[in-house]
Amino acid sequence: MSPHDVFSELVGQDEPVVTLRRAAAAAARIVAGEPDSGGMTHAWIFTGPPGARRTVAARVFAAALQCERDGTGCGECHGCHTALGGTHADVQVVTTEGLTIKTEETRAVVLRAASAPTGGRWQVVIIEAADRLHERASNALLKAIEEPSPRTVFLLCTPSVHPDDILVTIRSRCRLVSLRQPPAAAVAEVLVRRHDIAPDQAAWAAAASQGDVERARQLAADPEARGRRDDVLSVPRKLTSIGACFDAAARLEAASKQEAAIAVAELDVAERAALERALGAGGTGRGATTAMRGAAGQLKELERNQKLRATRAQRDALDRALQDLIGFYRDVLVTSMRAPVPVVHGDLAAVSAAAAGKWTPESTLRRLEAVLTCRDAIDRNVKPQVALEAMMVSLWQG
Ligand SMILES: [Zn+2]
Repeated sequence: MSPHDVFSELVGQDEPVVTLRRAAAAAARIVAGEPDSGGMTHAWIFTGPPGARRTVAARVFAAALQCERDGTGCGECHGCHTALGGTHADVQVVTTEGLTIKTEETRAVVLRAASAPTGGRWQVVIIEAADRLHERASNALLKAIEEPSPRTVFLLCTPSVHPDDILVTIRSRCRLVSLRQPPAAAVAEVLVRRHDIAPDQAAWAAAASQGDVERARQLAADPEARGRRDDVLSVPRKLTSIGACFDAAARLEAASKQEAAIAVAELDVAERAALERALGAGGTGRGATTAMRGAAGQLKELERNQKLRATRAQRDALDRALQDLIGFYRDVLVTSMRAPVPVVHGDLAAVSAAAAGKWTPESTLRRLEAVLTCRDAIDRNVKPQVALEAMMVSLWQG
């Protein structure tokens, strides 16, 4: 057991790591031709709150399954490297860049999953957002899980196993890996050890990110991310009139759009250039005209997908902002209740304490609920601006 093996990615997830190590070792014995000892199964669900890094856990497990050193997930062999790097021929990933996963894409992946692994180990299919599968795609997946090929493994990632997120029939055929929000101390330790961040900065970022390693790293290392967080956390103080509420909603909406645009811009340009290169340019005659019509269709399709991705990125940016606000109102609540737990936003402890002196716990709770309601509404496709305006007014009124 090396401290640098692939499982070291799973910060603060001791129990799931034990289960996954055991399964990968059992899987390696099956590959070696030994009798099935029962530790391995062909369908898994990874659940957990935001920041628990469900998809990272699935990729780590995929690497251990492809590991050439007895499934230890050594992190050094070719199987581990290519599986983690996303280039292993027997690890297919259905990603989440659109708002929903296309049925054809899932079908194609499920079909390919039935074939024997080229590397002789396992054919692994990771579905990063199983909760966003269309109904028909879910049914195709269910069928594949019901009649599995002997060496195919499905790893499904979903926020929860609520029937809204995953078909009950799929759930019943999968082994569940419940990831938890890692404790702040574990997150801080990773920032110090792996990203060379000063201990006090790491401790602050780990608490402020509420257990999300990637978000903590961003807060510790990126001044722009810190600036956006400061803006969001200044909102509660600015809500002094109905006009201020609408202003705050508009500003937050615009900021999330801009953050999303920056996040996808580079990828958009690279994808378009790659597609244009692949389609070729120039040529005359009938063949070229037909080819150009096909090319126009493909470019349009690309634009549509890129637009979906931008929408998804904006929702993610908004969700981070709402998480920050949830942390703030929670801090106000724990301060006024004198709960013996640390605050999320340590740098704003004076502000949350002042609010705790001014608001009743009931009205703080109503504000917290207003943020949660806003998140739900955005999740259900309510226009972000409308959801944010309603939230700001509730936050002002209390
Ligand atoms: Zn390995």
